[in-house]
Amino acid sequence: MATADKMTPSESISDTSPSTESGEWIHDDPLAHRRLRGGEFWREVPAFEEVTQEEFHDYKWQMKNSLYGERRLMELMDGLAPPEFIEDAKKGFALAPMAVRVTPYLFSLINWDDPWTDPIRTQFIPIASRLSEDHPMLTLDSLHEQSDAPVDGLTHRYSDKALFLPLDTCPVYCRFCTRSYAIGIDTDTVEKVKLRVNPKRWEEAFEYIENCPQLEDIVISGGDAYNLAFKHIETIGMRLLEMPNIRRLRFATKGLAVMPMKILSDRRWLDAMTRVVDQGRQMHKQVVIHTHFNHPNEITEISLRALDTLFERGILVRNQSVLQRGVNDDPETMALLVKRLGEVNVHPYYVYQHDMVQGVEDLRTSVHTNGEIEKYVRGVTAGFNTPTFVVDAPGGGGKRAVHSYEHYNRETGISVYTAPSVKPGEHFLYFDPLHSLDDDIREAWKDEDKKEQMIADALDAAGAN
Ligand SMILES: *Cc1c(COP(=O)(O)O)cnc(C)c1O
Ligand code: SF4
Repeated sequence: MATADKMTPSESISDTSPSTESGEWIHDDPLAHRRLRGGEFWREVPAFEEVTQEEFHDYKWQMKNSLYGERRLMELMDGLAPPEFIEDAKKGFALAPMAVRVTPYLFSLINWDDPWTDPIRTQFIPIASRLSEDHPMLTLDSLHEQSDAPVDGLTHRYSDKALFLPLDTCPVYCRFCTRSYAIGIDTDTVEKVKLRVNPKRWEEAFEYIENCPQLEDIVISGGDAYNLAFKHIETIGMRLLEMPNIRRLRFATKGLAVMPMKILSDRRWLDAMTRVVDQGRQMHKQVVIHTHFNHPNEITEISLRALDTLFERGILVRNQSVLQRGVNDDPETMALLVKRLGEVNVHPYYVYQHDMVQGVEDLRTSVHTNGEIEKYVRGVTAGFNTPTFVVDAPGGGGKRAVHSYEHYNRETGISVYTAPSVKPGEHFLYFDPLHSLDDDIREAWKDEDKKEQMIADALDAAGAN
């Protein structure tokens, strides 16, 4: 630790990452989830050495110093990360489908002594040495969000719920983003669909929603609700609440995981969100926040303060994680995440199988791995705090419980799902990443005829024909 922080009772353990490498932590260390990182950990980054707690806990400082783009990131890593790592990242940036954007908070939580294996680094900073060959079945919008969109920025796939995308920016850009077709600025490899903040476009979505009586539940996603002006939180929230058919709203933001300071220092935003939640409660309608923590290291004492604040205001928070190789794809890490979310009163809702997104194959796992982790996590804590492990079926089948496949061939890596209430009669295929398959099968995927044959066999085995 660079400095001592008298205010933090857990100082003595504050720079110890939770031990997740040694198997049976649940038995060895049953209280690991309660030990949150505290202290002025950011001062270990040379560029933030002089930054006071007051500055660091201020969301405006975090936003102003968000590491937007390669050059700034390079400057900060200089003298901090091993030079070979910096070279590796420079090459990684050139190949990545997402622009790079990280908050100083997240940057400071990375273990710079070993950035190659750090779970936060892995999610936000691409490096060339870990990139893995794309599966031939990958497409840019694998979930077909655009083809299920009746108006721009509104995906209506399920009967009673829809996904509204009011904007296309986030406080950070995750390498693994499913919406890399739209989110963030154009990169060398992808030109984005634009979904700008635009109340006129929103109005078209609202008119569609109010004219669809079966729609009850709107996910306001993006993009990220953190990046909506406080006025817009209220405009959108109140406009939807006043529709008689709408019963439930969820505001999605990764912000709680990447910049918890906003809850502690942006009074206007928090008050606007609280007014929408309170108004909903008055009308007997549910308004909640959905957030996105992926690793136990992302939950600190600052997160705890922010989440306590939301809890005191009666704002329910649910979490959706993405299962990622090298981040949270071992049972103990996932169990610790789930326990720690419970500790800070966040409800673990989903763990998603990584979508089939281009350019981030190193992050995908097999369906088998997902199933094994699910098996381990169930039983670790309260059933209502146990997330559902799902695959968002490529091609628009929606979310399916990972174990519920009609057929799964671990050798070819093909799993086949059906979704009787979403797209009756259709079959949806998920493909494990090539790096999880044997060499001969990996080669087979590059041969058009063998590829067709493997897919046809899987559909047969699933009873599709
Ligand atoms: C995930 C999703 C929803 C919400 O689904 P839940 O299972 O209720 O969380 C709604 N619409 C679309 C298009 C989605 O992808
Ligand atoms: S916060 Fe969500 S929408 Fe934004 S880049 Fe990350 S995964 Fe994508």
